[in-house]
Amino acid sequence: MEDIYCQQIIPGKLKVDMVFETDQVMAFHHTKPYWEHHVVIIPKTHIDSLSTYPNTPALNKDIFEAIKVVTKLFEEHYGGCKHHWYKLERVAYEKQEAALK
Ligand SMILES: [Zn+2]
Repeated sequence: MEDIYCQQIIPGKLKVDMVFETDQVMAFHHTKPYWEHHVVIIPKTHIDSLSTYPNTPALNKDIFEAIKVVTKLFEEHYGGCKHHWYKLERVAYEKQEAALK
């Protein structure tokens, strides 16, 4: 699929500051943060929308483990954490990318 995650980040072509990684998911500091502290959690497979999320136990386990790790990082270092789902994150990123062109 044509998106920065599948084309650049997951294959390792664009280096990111990784917070957490398994064979199913990765969590990393946003390369162009929208907020002062901005970590992105993504599955390592393309998913168009939460409506087509595969909901497999292995992916769910790793997604929630990543959320826990990132939340702990933010609570300990930045005073709190807000969660935004993958699709919302991607929409915000694409808007930001479009604004920079
Ligand atoms: Zn993708």
